[in-house]
Amino acid sequence: MSVATRTQEIRIGTLVIGGERPVVIAGPGSVVPSYSAGVRALAHLGVDGLRAGVFKGRTHPDSFRGLGARALPLLLEARFYTGLPLISEVLSDAEAELLADHVDAFQVGARNMQNYRLLEALGEMDKPVILKRGLAATVDEWIAAAEYVRRGGNENVILCERGIRTFETRTRNTMDLAGMILARELTGLPVLADPSHATGRRHLVPPLARAALAAGADGVLVEVHERPDDAWSDADQTIGIPECAALIADARRFAGCGPVGVGR
Ligand code: PEP
Ligand code: MN
Repeated sequence: MSVATRTQEIRIGTLVIGGERPVVIAGPGSVVPSYSAGVRALAHLGVDGLRAGVFKGRTHPDSFRGLGARALPLLLEARFYTGLPLISEVLSDAEAELLADHVDAFQVGARNMQNYRLLEALGEMDKPVILKRGLAATVDEWIAAAEYVRRGGNENVILCERGIRTFETRTRNTMDLAGMILARELTGLPVLADPSHATGRRHLVPPLARAALAAGADGVLVEVHERPDDAWSDADQTIGIPECAALIADARRFAGCGPVGVGR
């Protein structure tokens, strides 16, 4: 496999990933009834895109699995008030069809990275796909999964490093920044870092986000809530509005630095 010399720019509504400046995509772990108030605060801060999870692939079926179709009016409201692109996880092609008119990009969760039928279905749709790295996927397996989407004709795949499972248990996962950079070098696809799922711990999210940006990530995807302890999913790793504001300021400092290891 050859090494890409430049990163593909991918547009999600008003948002460009892989361009001159790293982006911040933020929002709660899942869309809940208070969603539109929370995301209005985030829009005010200057986030570039919104997490909008309504179908959640949870490890245990008793965990909150999202509002599903009941969230559609909340998505409409969020779009109306913020104008920001919405990014939403889908677990099946039927869920993708259901959300197609309400969101701007699909997310494939870590647990579905090798769900080839889903990848193929998204490859035939015309929305960008954020492809999380699987819990224990190698860089090559991650890249191969991206290829399933691209073979269908949808070239707009964004890779997202969200930590991989290692022997370490003090953090939820271990963020593999080297793997993130290599994945971009090998594909030319833009890369995001998700320090929320990589660490599982709120106070580790800002330093890991900064580390990823310094390493040349094209953006970060973070779980943010106006009252983090009240988040319906992943509260322990959810940061608050002031921390998100600081993260946006950090990301802006990396504008124009260009991706590390590509085109240099
Ligand atoms: C998420 O982003 O909400 C999520 C479930 O992430 P992951 O698939 O990386 O665990
Ligand atoms: Mn989550």
